[in-house]
Amino acid sequence: MFNLILFGPPGSGKGTQSEKIIAKYGLKHLSTGDLLRTEISNQTPLGLEAKSLMDKGQLVPDEVVTGMISSALDANPGAKGFLFDGFPRTSAQAEALDKLLALKKTSIAVMLALDVSQEELVKRLLKRGETSGRSDDTNENVITARIIEYHNKTAPVAEYYKKYNKVVTVKGEGTVNDIFNVLSHEIEQRTQPKEAGIEK
Ligand code: ADP
Repeated sequence: MFNLILFGPPGSGKGTQSEKIIAKYGLKHLSTGDLLRTEISNQTPLGLEAKSLMDKGQLVPDEVVTGMISSALDANPGAKGFLFDGFPRTSAQAEALDKLLALKKTSIAVMLALDVSQEELVKRLLKRGETSGRSDDTNENVITARIIEYHNKTAPVAEYYKKYNKVVTVKGEGTVNDIFNVLSHEIEQRTQPKEAGIEK
């Protein structure tokens, strides 16, 4: 299996690049933001609890997202590998993920971290808010709150994986395809040589 974390602040392009990576390498995309938005649109109790936090730009409790990821891993026993997008977002989530993967006799191969300036992030999120229908993208105060949560709680997750030499930082500004080419190169460095795709 090949498991990777696509990391970076809100608006850094994780969703866009994830779509391209899963299409090329056949990985299963696990985005906690998308999983939470599905819970919200289905009006589940979990969704209702999450919505009030997400609308304020705050993180949802670790147990909630870790539980969702655990179920998603169990629901995809034949996956070639997983692309984690928006998860782990706290050090506690990172520890929980490592344990869940260890139970499945696998681990994180690499964390690819997208680096984008704060000014560019706010610009992109406000632009996305014009069309995404996401209430957390339309209000600049909520955007700022998300970026603050990122610096306080999520940035330390990169430090966690740095201890294991698993972090590669990639510039997240430029064209979508140029960034994708750099990410692809990093992925292929970590899969078996002379292999076109990723085998199980
Ligand atoms: P973005 O990274 O662009 O802000 P996401 O779709 O990844 O968007 O997340 C939207 C919101 O969902 C976050 O602001 C947070 O409230 C919640 N969320 C998503 N993933 C997690 C997570 N792993 N832990 C806690 N909260 C999360």
